[in-house]
Amino acid sequence: MIVGWIIEHKIVLTVTQKRNSILGNYRAPHNGKGHRISINGDLNPYAFLVTFVHEMAHLTTCVKHQKRVTSHGSEWKEQFKLLMDEFFGRKILPHDVRAALKIYLINPASTHCNDPHLIKVLDRYNKKAVLYVQDLDSNALFVWNDGRIFKKGEKLRKRYKCYEVKTKRIYLFNPIAKVRSF
Ligand SMILES: [Zn+2]
Repeated sequence: MIVGWIIEHKIVLTVTQKRNSILGNYRAPHNGKGHRISINGDLNPYAFLVTFVHEMAHLTTCVKHQKRVTSHGSEWKEQFKLLMDEFFGRKILPHDVRAALKIYLINPASTHCNDPHLIKVLDRYNKKAVLYVQDLDSNALFVWNDGRIFKKGEKLRKRYKCYEVKTKRIYLFNPIAKVRSF
């Protein structure tokens, strides 16, 4: 199905190295270049699929509405649901991913990373087990993406207050931020 979309819309698809800030990206035709989609190559197959469909929904929204709509507005949500629906009829998604996606699709956030339940279900299919900030004991040390070392502190309303060991500065971490143990 995805190959069909790529051919139909002449998409230039780039599978990239892991990027910490984004999972994928869509760029509309510009300066003689066609539709471009990039997806992080470190994603497991289900996370890759959800990310691809997310970017694909930007493409079909762009084709249908040009630039007259906001990037994750109701038009994008509608396209995302339509495209994702095509996969529900085929028995390719495990039960837990399917169930988490159904809940997410009721009102998809601008990134599925904002849905902790969906993210945790998708992470089950990673080759390496994932360690979240919320799984650590308090005062445990952990290593962030960029190599800096932090100490886990108390939970505020939604996030954990953590201290960078070197500078003693305070940073707030999402409970499902992925970290390495120190
Ligand atoms: Zn987006």
